[in-house]
Amino acid sequence: MRCGRRCILNTMMRIRPILVFPIASLAFIAFPLFAQQADKPKPEDTEVWEPVPAVVTPGATPTAAPSDAIILFDGKNEDEWVSAQDKSPAKWIVSDGVLTVSKAPGVGNIETKRTFKNYQLHIEWKVPENITGSGQARGNSGVFLASTGPGDDGYELQVLDCYNNKTYVNGMVGSIYKQAIPLANAARKPGEWQSYDVVWTAPTFNEDGSLKTPSYVTVFFNGVLVENHFELKGQTLYIGKPFYKKYDSAPIKLQAHGDHSEPLSFRNIWVRELN
Ligand code: MG
Repeated sequence: MRCGRRCILNTMMRIRPILVFPIASLAFIAFPLFAQQADKPKPEDTEVWEPVPAVVTPGATPTAAPSDAIILFDGKNEDEWVSAQDKSPAKWIVSDGVLTVSKAPGVGNIETKRTFKNYQLHIEWKVPENITGSGQARGNSGVFLASTGPGDDGYELQVLDCYNNKTYVNGMVGSIYKQAIPLANAARKPGEWQSYDVVWTAPTFNEDGSLKTPSYVTVFFNGVLVENHFELKGQTLYIGKPFYKKYDSAPIKLQAHGDHSEPLSFRNIWVRELN
């Protein structure tokens, strides 16, 4: 028998409850899952892309260590450095007066044997001329001004090739990672030596671990002021909001970033304690 318009309508009315129930229950199950996914913190949540700092051409030349400095690397050996992972002797490559990140498996970050509170630091670094990649995967390293753990724990002054390489500005060269946008972009070309001069004021803590005074940092990049007595909000995190964790004094750490670009080199590293 042919089913007319009335017949189709009647059939629809009869099967409607059968259709509505599974659709409603599917939405009931799926909604919390979607909500949960939306709530989960993502790296992008803490990226800032504007305003982009002005490009400044640096004029400074590298600085030799003054008489009261502790020499952390003078081109001869890495005796002042250990593996950040297990405190064994550092295994980066020393050649031609230069300290280069090792890409060998299991080597990772290195840090100073000594620990520091407040200090002035000078460090020079170079991105290889033949660097490849883009964004954060282009000459990424970092100077952790206080290393409070074996991985990327601590307070990172970012090292990155930002000579015509766009990334989020609170993660570019001269930034305090995901906290402070540099006041200028004084980057030199890959293959040229660059310098950081840093004044670090360590945070202090109460007995119960709560924060007494925050840390402050001033940074000159190739002689150009890029961070001016910036008050940190805590450790520099890849994901999530920064917070402080009690420490007394800490090593300075250099990052072996896990990307596949050419490794960075360092030279002329010295520190003056300001306690
Ligand atoms: Mg880094």
